[in-house]
Amino acid sequence: HRQLYKSHRDEKYTGDNSQSESHSFKCKNRRKDSADVKSITSQSSDAPSLQTRRYSSMARIHSMTIEAPITKVINIINAAQENSPITVAEALDRVLEILRTTELYSPQLGTKDEDPHTSDLVGGLMTDGLRRLSGNEYVFSKNTNLSHSHLSAPNTISDVPPCITQLLDNEESWDFNIFELEAVTNKRPLVYLGLKVFARFGVSEFLNCSEATLRAWLQVIEANYHSSNSYHNSTHAADVLHATAFFLGKERVKGSLDHLDEVAALIAATIHDVDHPGRTNSFLCNAGSELAVLYNDTAVLESHHTALAFQLTTKDSKCNIFKNIDRNHYRTLRQAIIDMVLATEMTKHFEHVNKFVNSINKPMASEETSSHSEGSDCECTANIKNFPDNQTLIKRMMIKCADVANPCRPLELCIEWAGRISEEYFAQ
Ligand SMILES: [Zn+2]
Repeated sequence: HRQLYKSHRDEKYTGDNSQSESHSFKCKNRRKDSADVKSITSQSSDAPSLQTRRYSSMARIHSMTIEAPITKVINIINAAQENSPITVAEALDRVLEILRTTELYSPQLGTKDEDPHTSDLVGGLMTDGLRRLSGNEYVFSKNTNLSHSHLSAPNTISDVPPCITQLLDNEESWDFNIFELEAVTNKRPLVYLGLKVFARFGVSEFLNCSEATLRAWLQVIEANYHSSNSYHNSTHAADVLHATAFFLGKERVKGSLDHLDEVAALIAATIHDVDHPGRTNSFLCNAGSELAVLYNDTAVLESHHTALAFQLTTKDSKCNIFKNIDRNHYRTLRQAIIDMVLATEMTKHFEHVNKFVNSINKPMASEETSSHSEGSDCECTANIKNFPDNQTLIKRMMIKCADVANPCRPLELCIEWAGRISEEYFAQ
C-alpha cells in the first residue's frame, strides 16, 4: 500500500493545484471541515492528507451509478451466502470464482484429463496460434483486386444463359449442386446465385437500389475472392449464401427475424470470406503478416473480410448498394453485417454456441413441452422478435451453421468440399 501511495503522490498529487481537484478535495475533507485548500495541498508529503485525498476520490467513484450486471449478480450471491448453510455457501463460492473470470462462454481447452489429440486439433482451430511459432516467415502479399471485374458477366438477369437458369431452378433445395453452378459459370457462381437469391428476398427493394447496382456489387465482391484457393474461393461464398438463404426460408427463422435481418444475413454471407488468402489466422499471426499486424492478431481475417467489403462497396457509387438508404438504416444494417462476419471467427465458437443454447434453444424447448398445441411456434418466435439480442444470436448461429454445413450436404458434395479444404491446408 505504501508503495502505491508513494507512486501516486509522485506522479499525480505533488504540487497539484488545479481548481477542479481542489474543489472536490475541499468538499470531502474528513479531517478539517472547513479546510483551506492551499494548506492541504502544500502538505502533500504528509500521509494523512494523502489518505484524505484518496478517500475523496474513492467517494466520488462510489457515488457513480455505473454498475455492470455481473456486479449486481455477484452482490446478490454474496448476500445470499450470509444466511445459507455451509454447503450452499461453499457451492456459491465456487460459482463466484467462475463468475469472476472474464471468459464466461469459452471452454478451457487442454485440461489434463482430455484426449491430447482432441486438444491439439481443437486448439489448432481455435487459438491464434501463438503457441507454435514456425519461424517460417510468410508475408501475405497484398494483391487486393480493387479494380472492377474484367470478367464477362451478365448485363441483365434475362441475359443469363439458359443452362444456368435451368440449374438455378433448383436453387431452393438443400441438395442443390453448387459445383455444377461453378462449372457452368466459369467459376463465377456468386454473381448468378446472388442475383437469384437477392431477388427472391427483395434485397434491391429493401435497399432501394437498381438491379444494375446490385449486379455490379456482386461482380466486385466475387472478383475479390481468390479463384486460386481450392476452398476459400467464391464457390464457398456462394455455398454459404445458399445455406443462409435456405435457413432464412424456414418458418421459425422467418418468424423470428425482420426484413433488415434477412438482407443483412444475405450480404454477410456473400462477403464473409472476401479476399481470403488461403491461410488461417494462426498462420498469418505466426508469420507476422501485414494483416496480422494491422489487426493486432485479433480476428485478423474476419476483420479484413468485413472492412474490405465495405471499402469495395462504398468507394464507387456504381456498386454502392447502400447509397439510397437513410443513415439510420445503414448504421443498423452495417452493425448487423459486421456482427455476423465476425461471428464466423472460430476462437469465439463456443462462446456463440453457448449463448445461443442458453438464450434460444433451451427456452424454446421448454416452452414447447409446456404448451402442447401445435401453434405454439408463434409464441416462441414472438418472444424472440421482441428482443434484438436474441435476433442477433440467431443471425450469428445461422451464418456459423451455413459456414460449416459441408458435412450436412449430400455425401458427394461433402467429399468434394473435404478434398478442397484438405488441399488448402496442405498447401499452407
Ligand atoms: Zn467461410
